[in-house]
Amino acid sequence: MLLYRNDLQMGFENKNISIPKGSLEKSSFKFIQPEINCVLNCKSDYSGFKLNGNLNFILSIICDRCMSIFQNYMDVPFKLVLSSQNNIVNDKENFMLFSDEADEIDILPFINETIHLSLPMKILCAETCKGLCSQCGTNLNLEICKCLSDGKHTPFDKLNQLLSN
Ligand SMILES: [Zn+2]
Ligand SMILES: [Zn+2]
Repeated sequence: MLLYRNDLQMGFENKNISIPKGSLEKSSFKFIQPEINCVLNCKSDYSGFKLNGNLNFILSIICDRCMSIFQNYMDVPFKLVLSSQNNIVNDKENFMLFSDEADEIDILPFINETIHLSLPMKILCAETCKGLCSQCGTNLNLEICKCLSDGKHTPFDKLNQLLSN
């Protein structure tokens, strides 16, 4: 994903860039569409170039609670500073070194990292996902099992439920 100094110097707004998923690092991510969409803005100032943008893509992923596969629309905002001086950014800012002699820079490594950090620790098909019955494995989003009414629940069920959440 090459960005050219000439373009960066002029600055741009809402530039649309398609990133073929084949150009990304191999991972366990299953992208539904052939391309990741990136909308990019750039402002230049005395210290370098300030990029901010959004990545949009749809992932096929597995719910941690009910184990069903679902499609999740991802909207990932990011910020990145390109500069030849690495002392101008604070620790919280994303930064890539862009030497004054270079005419272009490939920000794909940063995009890869941003995508891989975009998944939440806990993946849920819905906030209200009821998960699987700890006794019979029934997906409680789809049907109600008999475990409850059979009185098979033990005092530890609450605990199990908390642990599986
Ligand atoms: Zn679920
Ligand atoms: Zn059950």
